[in-house]
Amino acid sequence: MTALGSLPLSRTAFDRDGNARTKPGFLDSVRTDERTRVVLVHGRDVAVDGENLDLRLCSELESTEQMVYLGTTMVDENGIVEGTPVVAVRADDADVTWAPLRQIAANLSNRDAGLAAGSVAVLGWHEASGFCSRCGSATVVEHAGWMRRCPSCDAEHFPRTDPAVIVCVTDADDRILLGSNSAWEAGRYSLFAGFVEAGESLEAAVIREVYEEAGVRVTNPRYLGSQPWPFPRSLMLGYSAQIESDQDAGDTTPDGDEILEVRWFTRAELNDEASGVLLPGRSSIAHAIIEQWLVGE
Ligand SMILES: [Zn+2]
Repeated sequence: MTALGSLPLSRTAFDRDGNARTKPGFLDSVRTDERTRVVLVHGRDVAVDGENLDLRLCSELESTEQMVYLGTTMVDENGIVEGTPVVAVRADDADVTWAPLRQIAANLSNRDAGLAAGSVAVLGWHEASGFCSRCGSATVVEHAGWMRRCPSCDAEHFPRTDPAVIVCVTDADDRILLGSNSAWEAGRYSLFAGFVEAGESLEAAVIREVYEEAGVRVTNPRYLGSQPWPFPRSLMLGYSAQIESDQDAGDTTPDGDEILEVRWFTRAELNDEASGVLLPGRSSIAHAIIEQWLVGE
């Protein structure tokens, strides 16, 4: 397979401007800048206006408690010029239209997709990181929202991302291996995926995960591309791999816990709308990988 093109949540058109975060008083200057726009977040939902983010002026906000500086825009779009500062704010009570990011990501512009992914990810981290993981004291926010420091033991805590591999396994008959998860409705299938363990390489995780979930030994893991998946904090790393030459393709073993069924599909079977097979949603990297395999790339 060839490398993946642009993935919905990997797109971006803003400058993270990371060096500005540590300037004294920087976030206050952004807060009072009359140009500053806000990505409003409620859990994993974002405020929308039609198919765009509803980027309100910061000066319109009543409360700006948990604020994170995202950076500056790199395009002129929907009346917001290039170079405009943008912040993310948790605003559970705001009078706006909310939409789940994972459902709308593919419809957002490059600029809005990047801003939304960053906002949901970093605010989700704050929500779960109020206390020091070393000593248990309440932490304080620094670096314009990108670091939490423990005032007791001085530990510095940064937003965490959990790497997870997702694998397009194919066999000598040009079929793709998909699994049906116990948490899904009947007929839904996707690629095999799992978190990278401590001390493990990505390639080793590919081989281990497919064996654990499907009972299939694979070889030759090849990187395809990545996408943040901030639900709550994953980074999905797409791989292709082939079944081992001495592994019988018919000899599969679903783990019986997470995966209930393992099945090989031909392109014709996945393209047949009458088959009733449900595939992953448009925002996911799984969708992009399966689509790319279906067109033979
Ligand atoms: Zn501490």
